[in-house]
Amino acid sequence: MKKKKIPIVRILGVEYELLFVEGMGLGEESTTGGIVEDNTKTPKIVIDSSQSGAVQRETLLHELLHASDRASCGGKQLPEKVIDRLARMLYAIGRDNLSTMLWVFGGEDE
Ligand SMILES: [Zn+2]
Repeated sequence: MKKKKIPIVRILGVEYELLFVEGMGLGEESTTGGIVEDNTKTPKIVIDSSQSGAVQRETLLHELLHASDRASCGGKQLPEKVIDRLARMLYAIGRDNLSTMLWVFGGEDE
């Protein structure tokens, strides 16, 4: 399956470059994705492209939730466990109900 590249994602008015990097290894613990911020540049959401497609998609959803949380909370952010659980739940809902989710997120009303 051909990998779809999405160069920019917009989360509550903040733009992120979306990068797929093989074996990214952010930090000391093994990770499948992360947000990289540098005040002088557009922030980046980085996804490890050596993971399966399903893991990459769930990881992207996880990082999008972090980005949304950062933009909307104005202070204390949700714990990692909560973000992880929300991402798993949303991914499972979307994967099994894609047409319903398309309607939720952008379908036209009849
Ligand atoms: Zn996280």
